[in-house]
Amino acid sequence: MKAVGKYNVCPYVCSMMNCQKCQKEYIPKRMGGLFCSVSCGNSYRQQLKRDEQKQARLVEQGFAIKNPLTEDEQFFWHILSRLGDTAIRLDEEAKLPGDKRPADFGKRLGDFIRETRTEAAGLRMQEIGARLKAQQKKEEGNKSK
Ligand SMILES: [Zn+2]
Repeated sequence: MKAVGKYNVCPYVCSMMNCQKCQKEYIPKRMGGLFCSVSCGNSYRQQLKRDEQKQARLVEQGFAIKNPLTEDEQFFWHILSRLGDTAIRLDEEAKLPGDKRPADFGKRLGDFIRETRTEAAGLRMQEIGARLKAQQKKEEGNKSK
């Protein structure tokens, strides 16, 4: 580690990273660097452009939609729509007078609460939560510069 400015250790560029293009390990020369070399950066951006053009052609030809959902979005849509449907049903039943409510209402309400709790504590939620925290930390850091 080398001394940089007022810091005793380099605050951001000294740790090894994997090149976004070729996966090779390297030490970034500047903050936010993602590639081991200029050629890797260029080739990555060209590939990105080709992928975009390919996607645009598929949209034009009617084989794809413009904003396909990410895997995370699909995952959360399935969970939330299922929980939402159950919540609507339970809410309707909760409005009924006690003697008109299905006998298993309390049990199903309990199941719903436990299911919501389990989904909220799921691995994918934790991963998203960690990403969100990291993102907010970066945004905070950028603001204070
Ligand atoms: Zn590379």
